Amino acid sequence: MQNSETIWQMVDAKRTEFEALSDRIWGMPEIAYTEYRSVAEHTAMLKAQGFRVTENLAGIPTAVMGEAGEGGPVIAILGEYDALPGLSQEAGIAEPKPLPGNGYGHGCGHNLLGSAAMLAATAVKDFLEATGRPGRVRYYGCPAEEGGAAKAFMVRAGAFKDVDIAITWHPASLTRVGEALSLANTRMDFHFTGRASHAAAAPHLGRSALDAVELMNVGVNYMREHMPSDARIHYAMLDSGGIAPNVVQASAKVRYAIRARDLAGMLALNERVRKIAQGAALMTETTVAISIMSAVSNMLGNTPLAEAMHQNLLRLGPVPFDAADRDYAAQIQATLSEEDILTDYRRVGIPPRPDTPLCDFIVPREAKGEPMIGSTDVADVSWVVPTVEVRVATHAIGTPGHSWQITAQGKAPAAHKGMVHAAKAMAGTALDVLSDELLLARAKQDHRERTAATPYVCPIPPEVQPPLQPRPQAA
Ligand SMILES: [Zn+2]
Repeated sequence: MQNSETIWQMVDAKRTEFEALSDRIWGMPEIAYTEYRSVAEHTAMLKAQGFRVTENLAGIPTAVMGEAGEGGPVIAILGEYDALPGLSQEAGIAEPKPLPGNGYGHGCGHNLLGSAAMLAATAVKDFLEATGRPGRVRYYGCPAEEGGAAKAFMVRAGAFKDVDIAITWHPASLTRVGEALSLANTRMDFHFTGRASHAAAAPHLGRSALDAVELMNVGVNYMREHMPSDARIHYAMLDSGGIAPNVVQASAKVRYAIRARDLAGMLALNERVRKIAQGAALMTETTVAISIMSAVSNMLGNTPLAEAMHQNLLRLGPVPFDAADRDYAAQIQATLSEEDILTDYRRVGIPPRPDTPLCDFIVPREAKGEPMIGSTDVADVSWVVPTVEVRVATHAIGTPGHSWQITAQGKAPAAHKGMVHAAKAMAGTALDVLSDELLLARAKQDHRERTAATPYVCPIPPEVQPPLQPRPQAA
């Protein structure tokens, strides 16, 4: 108990510089595998704090790892810093207003995610140095969480092979150690090739790749009735074959995201979608090339670690929001629907509390909500290392994921308080594992039991490499 007070003071001692790091990352939003400026910021901070730094981790130029300490167990704290397209937004206001530029924005709060994770790792490092205790702590700077599955590639490259425990968090509207339920997810591209022709003079000579994409989508939409109810399929047209309706489209491309409760269920659905694509090609006399872009597994929980994390949350209490924080959150809530707000409560399984726009409580462990029907590449780490993820309130209750409202709130005082709180919860849990051999053993036993029946198989085919992007030329 005394130890956690000490490490929380170490978090507070450095909070200002890490809040500033988060704000800088917010101001340079970069999307999957282009995070060159963000990783440079994280690398510089790791060096400034005295970590032993490995750049270009797993052959990914926008991934970095910093390690400190000697001997003992290895605790990995995972951070992210990638942004999203289409979510550019001015900070600190409560109306949609994109900033000039490429339209990218931190609409999932990963500016906070990475900074708090490194702050936690730094506090553990400072604690180990101050006490001379054995143990190693690592900060993993992980790019491309949004659609890039970087952690799955990093797992495949062996980046976590000597790690004992992994800890991470995500910015949220409600503070809790969630049910570990996320969906396995594949992103697959279907590129149809047909034959161009004059659509009026020689329509019989053309074979439309766009027709094939449309028929494939219709086929998949008919399949929806006959798939598991917690599976999810969605698609985006990457290439509709051109803008001239009088030219039969010779090329068209659609990207699918296919999600299911577990890896086996996803692989089965993948095969059904492939068959539909092949059927569409057959119907239209086109050909189809199918390629997997990325894939992640479903998330495995870890009961002993989740309980340890929850105890840290209880000892910390809720995030210390003040009246000004609540006032801004109420302005954000005014932009949301009643349904947005109720959905947040329903998801975690607690009754709505209309008196507060910010989470000034901790969701009980026993609350049984609806599963988080999203996907994350943290899941692949959870298959090879006992992993715990905490969610800590950084924004108004009801704020939808991937929204301009998250970008707007990403530099607010409430967000800073939430990220520091998350760093304390993670550092406290890391310390519990370093101080309690039994907890470490129980976490490993829990992990063995969860993976005994179905050992981990990387969902990314061996020939698929991360879609690395070139370093932008200096202007
Ligand atoms: Zn996210």
